[in-house]
Amino acid sequence: VTVDTQASRVYAWEYQWGDWNVDTVKLSQVRAYVRWACGLYGIRYPSVRQHDKLSCTYSWSHGRKISILEGQNNCATALHEVAHYIGDSIFGGDMPHHSPQWMAIYLWLLSAAKVAPKTALFASAKANGITWVPLWQVSPKRLAGLAGKRLPKRKIRPPAR
Ligand SMILES: [Zn+2]
Repeated sequence: VTVDTQASRVYAWEYQWGDWNVDTVKLSQVRAYVRWACGLYGIRYPSVRQHDKLSCTYSWSHGRKISILEGQNNCATALHEVAHYIGDSIFGGDMPHHSPQWMAIYLWLLSAAKVAPKTALFASAKANGITWVPLWQVSPKRLAGLAGKRLPKRKIRPPAR
């Protein structure tokens, strides 16, 4: 397993987006984003819970579980965690947590959910020294193919905001 060299840059970048660090939606909406993202990639969605100050927000793919820290119910946090969940489910646990592959999945989801314009997401991430693989490499179609799955033909829209 490679060292997670990109984590601190990712956190610094996320901190710059004010509403990615506070509650902006209810937990039910966080769950809706997690289900939408898993649906896109054709994987079973995990349980999504809430916890208090004892630990950080996390994703645990073997336990099929995501837990969100109180005060972080927002779309970006949901997509950050579900990007871990999707990456772990498809690549196994060997991928560094905030690897360029993970970042591409996260950016793919942030763009598809229209959390912010793609150009703004890319430019600000780049300015923070974050790297990612080309997004086509982690598209739902490609990753589902790698996992030997076929995706449904119908388009899956992001949750209404
Ligand atoms: Zn993370």
